[in-house]
This record gives sequence, structure tokens and C-alpha cells, in this order.
Amino acid sequence: MSDYIDLNGAEQSFGDTEAQREVRANDRQYVFHSWSAQNKIDPLPISKGEGARFWDYDGNEYLDFSSQLVNLNLGHQHPGLVKAIQEQAGRLATIQPSIANDVRGELAKRIVEHSFEGARSVFFTNGGADANEYAIRMARHHTGRQKVLARYRSYHGSTATAITMTGDPRRWANGVLDANVVHFFGPYQYRSEFFSETPEQETERALAHLEHTIQLEGPDTIAAIILETVTGTNGVLVPTPGYLAGVRALCDKYGILMICDEVMVGFGRIGEWFAYQAFDVTPDLVTFAKGVNSGYVPLGGVVISEAIHDTFGDRAFPGGLTYSGHPLACAAGVATFDIFEDEKILERVRDLGERVVEPRLREMAEKHPSVGEVRGRGLFWAMELVLDRETREPLVPYNAAGEAAAPMNAVVAACKNAGLFPFVHFNRMQIAPPLITSEEDLIKGLDIIDEALTVADGYYT
Ligand code: PLP
Repeated sequence: MSDYIDLNGAEQSFGDTEAQREVRANDRQYVFHSWSAQNKIDPLPISKGEGARFWDYDGNEYLDFSSQLVNLNLGHQHPGLVKAIQEQAGRLATIQPSIANDVRGELAKRIVEHSFEGARSVFFTNGGADANEYAIRMARHHTGRQKVLARYRSYHGSTATAITMTGDPRRWANGVLDANVVHFFGPYQYRSEFFSETPEQETERALAHLEHTIQLEGPDTIAAIILETVTGTNGVLVPTPGYLAGVRALCDKYGILMICDEVMVGFGRIGEWFAYQAFDVTPDLVTFAKGVNSGYVPLGGVVISEAIHDTFGDRAFPGGLTYSGHPLACAAGVATFDIFEDEKILERVRDLGERVVEPRLREMAEKHPSVGEVRGRGLFWAMELVLDRETREPLVPYNAAGEAAAPMNAVVAACKNAGLFPFVHFNRMQIAPPLITSEEDLIKGLDIIDEALTVADGYYT
């Protein structure tokens, strides 16, 4: 039976069971989706999940290699998280932010204790974009300066300042919603602006470029430099050696605050509580969300240094949200810390990343001509798919849509048909499974990607 015609003009059915058909029909009729042309999408209908797997209403099973939007660090339906939320809901389901509450205080304490030296307090938000908005607001009030430097190839969220700071094409359609945002380039040796021979040279040139930008913008006008510690959606860009320390040194030299956006990489993704801990830098403000409670209840926040906290000691901080530090979300956050310790999550991420994922991805790069580069750390990796290894021409163009995205869509379809839900962005196959994924399932998912890459190889010139 034909329910609709897909983008290729083929007749498609909403599914086998009544439940699956109803969910898809309602979704297509009534739900307005983010980042999408409403008539050109066909979202997967999902009825239930467990651990690293989820199922549609027809009973088809998928292994999740995306952790949804890289938030589901502890996987679906973790009993510890579910129990914490249920118990909290039975006791006190909600309470406004200016009231003191046990789980809110406990979570703030645990976050501060696991953060940088000199971290003083936590401002809770509902997610990552608003965490970045508030970090910038704090930086502006603290320094009395207005400009913010943010990198190209970044994602900081979809609210006004956050989408303007974002350095990828997603911001274009919104215009400039914050006139005091300036972009600069970070290191990315595979597609470098600086034509560097070595990672060290890339660091040196990227830092010289940043200092030049600071000088031309006027050091006294710049409140903060914000950067994803390890760039996430824009390609899992691990900083080159010495880069973050160099940014810190420039911040100190010019009295600028350093903000690490850890929304995607915080809470274990690369095998550290916070990614900046792997690079030995001390930021002034850190933003987090996603992994703090695996997104079971929306939560984000800003970790604040002593000096910035003190700015607002006798002076009111002008900002806040009705649901900041929601008790259900905080209860799941406290449980997250317990589960990380009980299940030795950080240790397993480092071990599985080094022992299972990295060698296998490097093997795939040897085998498949379409893999131009493999990079990452912990359980966070990217493969750049190319049409030609010499020219490094991407498999699909940056900002690919419609026909241009067809080769990548074919790779995604091959994964889904084999039961894997992948994480792709433009020409990149990114690997971000839940941190609790078993070794067996990691190997199974990697086998599916290996097979799907033969589809990408078919486009290789
Ligand atoms: N910052 C980074 C690095 C992100 O990856 C994201 C979301 O993917 C955000 C900020 C925005 O977070 P949210 O979608 O919770 O607003």
C-alpha cells in the first residue's frame, strides 16, 4: 500500500503495524521538526529503547552509534537514572530556582568537585544553547567588554547569541543576531587554512592568527573566547598539541575570559569528566548539558570560576529561567555521578576507544579508498569520506542538501538497513555510541560501518 511518495519518487508505506502507521501519520501531519524542510523528512518512529539499542513499532531493532544527539551517554532506560527520576517525582516533582533543594545543591557540589581548580559554583540552565548564552552574559558583565570571539566550524546552539557564535552554515539563515560576535579559525590540519606541514606548525599558525584577530578587533573590547574543547558536530576536531594552552596564554595576556563549551564532550565522551582535563588547561567558564544526565530530563549549566562568581557577590546577576536546576533533572545528574563511578565509565571509554574502536577505524581507512582521515579520542571519532584522497575532495559538499547529499544518504541507508543508527554530518561518518555499549556491540556496529563504506567507495573517482 502506498502512503506517500519519497524523495526519489518511489511509493512508500508508513509501516506494517497499526501502531507504526499511526505514529508516522501523526508525525508527518502535526509535528514541526527542527532544522528540516517539513516535506522532505521521514523520521524514524521509535517506540522503546534499552541500553545501546532501540526499536520501532514494527519491532525492527537499531544499534545506536549516535547516542541520539550525542547525549545518551548512559544509554536508554538506565535503571539507576530511571529510579532516581521516579523517586524524585514521588517526593518533589518541581520547585523554582531561587529555593534551596537537596538534589540541586548535591549536583552543583559534585560538578564543582570534578571541575577545574578555582571552580566555585554552577548556574543551571535547560540545555546547551542557554548555557552558552548565560556564560557570555556573565563574561560581558564581569569584564565590561562586549565582543566574543568564536571559531568557524563550531556549533554552540540555536538561540540568538549561540547561533551567531556557531561557525557552520546553520547560522546563515538567521542572519546576525548578536553584532558583537567575531569568528576566527582553529586548527584543522586535514583541511588547514594555514597549509601546515606538522600539527605543531598548525598550532603555531592558528595561535598567530588568533592573536592577530585579537589585535585587529581591539583587546580591550573582547570579553571572551569561546571554543568547543573538542569540536563535535563539525568533525571531531581534537586540538593540536599546545593549542588550548596557547589560547589560555593569549586570554591571560589580554585579560580575556576562556569559555570551554563542553556540551557535547563533557561527562565522559573522550574518557574524562571534562575534555579540557585531557589538555591541561584551566578555563574561566565551562558550559555543559547532554551527558550531565544523558538527556533524560533537560538540563545544562555553566561552571563558574571564583573571580566571576565574586563579581556577582553584591551585584545581582541579571538573568534566570523558570526551570533552572529542575529537581527531576538534577536527581538524574546526581545518579549520573554514582553510575559513572560504579560502572567505571571513564576507564571503559578510554579502554574501548584505544583497544577496540581506534585500531578498527584505522584498519577501515587502509581498506576503503573513500576514507580520507580518521581522528578522535575515547568513544568520539570521525571518518572524513572523500571522492579522491589526493585532492581530499569531500564525498558530499559542505552544506550538502538535496541531490548533493545523495552519496552520504546512501551510506546512511546502508547502515540503517543493517540495523545501525549512524551519526553523519556532511561528508563525515562520526562514531559516538553510548558509553555503556558492550564490546560485542561496538564490534557489531563497526562491522556494519565497514560494510556500508563499500557504498562510499563506489563513488570514489
Ligand atoms: N554546544 C555544543 C558543542 C553542542 O553540540 C550543542 C548541541 O548539540 C549545543 C551547544 C546546544 O545544546 P542544546 O541543543 O541543548 O541547546
